[in-house]
Amino acid sequence: MPTPLRPTHLEVNLSQLRRNVEAIRAKVSPAKVLVMLKANAYGHGIDGVAPYIEPFIDAIGVAVLDEGIHLREIGITKPILVAGGTLPEHVSYYLEYDLTLTVSSLAVLDAAESAALAAGKSLKVHLKIDTGMERAGVRWYEAEPFLEHSLRCPHLDIEGIYTHFANSETLEPPEMPKKYGFSYASTQLERFNEVLRFYEKRGLPRPRLVHTANSAAILNLPESYFDMVRPGVMFYGIYPDPEVLHTVAISPAATWKSQVVYSKITQPGNPVSYSSLWVSDKVIRTVTVPCGYADGYFRRMTNLPKVLVNGRKYQQVGRICMDQFMVNLEADHAELGDEVILLGKAASGEQISAEDLAGWAGTNPYEVMTNIAARVPRAFIRDDNNA
Ligand SMILES: *Cc1c(COP(=O)(O)O)cnc(C)c1O
Repeated sequence: MPTPLRPTHLEVNLSQLRRNVEAIRAKVSPAKVLVMLKANAYGHGIDGVAPYIEPFIDAIGVAVLDEGIHLREIGITKPILVAGGTLPEHVSYYLEYDLTLTVSSLAVLDAAESAALAAGKSLKVHLKIDTGMERAGVRWYEAEPFLEHSLRCPHLDIEGIYTHFANSETLEPPEMPKKYGFSYASTQLERFNEVLRFYEKRGLPRPRLVHTANSAAILNLPESYFDMVRPGVMFYGIYPDPEVLHTVAISPAATWKSQVVYSKITQPGNPVSYSSLWVSDKVIRTVTVPCGYADGYFRRMTNLPKVLVNGRKYQQVGRICMDQFMVNLEADHAELGDEVILLGKAASGEQISAEDLAGWAGTNPYEVMTNIAARVPRAFIRDDNNA
């Protein structure tokens, strides 16, 4: 990795990602593991993560076609499932780049069959059943004619069938009536199992890859594993929700690092940063950190986050700017170049988690990670020698 000139970067421990995959595999085996690498590998940096992790996983999931094409262009050869919606006129790209198409409607099923016929190739397809997310997919109560139709598409390799959970995080959502109790995911699973009976009733083999489980279902719902699971956030070492069971031990792989670029004494009564939102009542040291909301350090966190300077926790103060923010070191000292950690663990053992940042920003850890901007260089490290 070229050393970024910029003091601010996201350090990603590839070995930890591999350990997370191994922990997931141990839990779900013999089910296969498709890892979701959408959204720049949840912000971790697709170009470093994908080539490293490819040998340790069975398949890759992305959200949009362009992400799948990008992975082929950087040399990835494992199966790639594009999970998001596709317009009928884009189906030919799946043939060109050997991507697996999610088919969520009769219109796309027909477009896929026509494109495969025209190209004289077989197109890999996973059928998407909506069991209660109301996002995309053929609804469970309308699935039968859709599956019938799919049997009459000789140029499609109907390799998979899947659904997606709307709520596999909470064990007993108190606001839901008991029939949605543990949980709505169980209801969705029942509906999905009913759809699968289509094949049984006709004495037909069902598609080779039946899958439903996202991270929360992997942790909470073993009956959701089928032939393959689709971990996203937990692959990166982050639990999807504070309420999930910790049935797989994972650890975060990313550390967001920076360095002090300015260190000074701030006098009482001198407001810090735009809009004068923070003033000290005593003499303190403040340091400036070269990272701001244009890097994905949410402006709405202003005056809330803690950061680690030289391994100790301090308060961020004053409006978070586009490219920098200030930290109150009280009576402590810091030099130019001293280590600042915005997310992750310091050598001292002190830690800032994605959950902490999510709490300060009023969001979830998914948005914290995927919001880290492209301007922040990714640096990939390993802490073992055997991979
Ligand atoms: C993003 C995504 C996942 C992974 O979800 P996590 O909660 O991050 O595990 C799984 N399946 C589909 C279809 C997705 O879009």
